[in-house]
Amino acid sequence: MKLTDLEKNLVRAMEEMTIIDAHEHLGPESQRTDATVDVFTLFSHYTRDDLLVARMSHDDYNKLFDRTIPLEARWALFAPYYERIRHGSYARAARIAARAFYDVDDISDRTYVTLSERMREANKPGLYDRVLRDACRIKVALTQCGSTDLGGSSMLRPVMPMAYPMERGADLTRPPFDPEASIGSLDDYLDAMRAYVDRVKAQGAVGLKMFSNPYEAPSREEAASAFSRVLTGEYEELPPVNPLRDFVVDEVIRYATELGLVVCVHTGYWGDFRMLDPTHMIPVLQRHPDARFDIYHLGYPWMREAIMLGKGFTNVWLNLCWTHIISQRFAMAGLDELIDMVPMNKIIGFGGDYGLPVEKVYGHLVMAREDIARVLARRVEDGDFSEERAIQLAHTWLYENPTELYGLE
Ligand SMILES: [Zn+2]
Repeated sequence: MKLTDLEKNLVRAMEEMTIIDAHEHLGPESQRTDATVDVFTLFSHYTRDDLLVARMSHDDYNKLFDRTIPLEARWALFAPYYERIRHGSYARAARIAARAFYDVDDISDRTYVTLSERMREANKPGLYDRVLRDACRIKVALTQCGSTDLGGSSMLRPVMPMAYPMERGADLTRPPFDPEASIGSLDDYLDAMRAYVDRVKAQGAVGLKMFSNPYEAPSREEAASAFSRVLTGEYEELPPVNPLRDFVVDEVIRYATELGLVVCVHTGYWGDFRMLDPTHMIPVLQRHPDARFDIYHLGYPWMREAIMLGKGFTNVWLNLCWTHIISQRFAMAGLDELIDMVPMNKIIGFGGDYGLPVEKVYGHLVMAREDIARVLARRVEDGDFSEERAIQLAHTWLYENPTELYGLE
């Protein structure tokens, strides 16, 4: 992205900042350094979906990671589809990462062999520190990898799933969060759930994550009835949206709030995104005025609906994790309207949202800085506030707000 001098100044100021990375899927570093890596590691995660939508077959996509096939043959398979997705935001994050860490000017026919070699050489303990701490200046990264075991890293802090499937008998009697629990009733299930929340909090978790699915008003009676009907086999399976889930989620939000945990909420974009409309959260927000909800991703494509949650509800923060790699133009439009709409302490500016390809956290951060710089520079040029104030706002979004919301000091 071509930046003006003012935008460049703002980017430079942000490069100096220690920041909080407010959402990742990073596992312990060993998960990455034990893996075999090459150019295609940079095309795992979100770019996978772009490649499939570009009509690459699942089979061919999986072959990219079959290291018994020579790299050259895998590249030949990949190249035509890469051409189709290369202008997308996801692919851009990969190229920025390749340039920054492996000193190649592009990801192309010319560079993929060198890039793969350099990635293999660098895939050693200390990689997270080099990428996250040294290049990104991340102090803390909140991560969701389904475990609180993060390999002893002082930089990573876990956020754990709030609700697990509650559809079949085995989901209820042997729940994934505590398969050994002895559960015969809804109350037993809730006890086990609360014990899980206590446990993960003691292990360092700072939040629980849910999704903005449709929720009905919770009813203990209906939940207990659904629970026993599943257990007796009268219902073989409940639909994913069901009274049991509605009640349990509500109880867990209440308990998380008592314990001071943040409730993180995925909104918009993914699969059948009609099920992820941010406005589904409104009754939940109303029922839990004391909870703190970190609403993710600006609800793409329901950006204004998501912004309205931040506008009208005291218990909502808006987190631009993943947002800058969904689309930089969307992220800039959203951030610009957010300045008009919500108090500055409610915006969280960045979360990389990556797993194995940790280098792309940096790619994403570069894009986030550009977006923030563009939006703020425009305000400075329009005379809304000074350059100094712009830098202060960026710091508020990238460091102060997530630090305060998650109690990271
Ligand atoms: Zn995520």
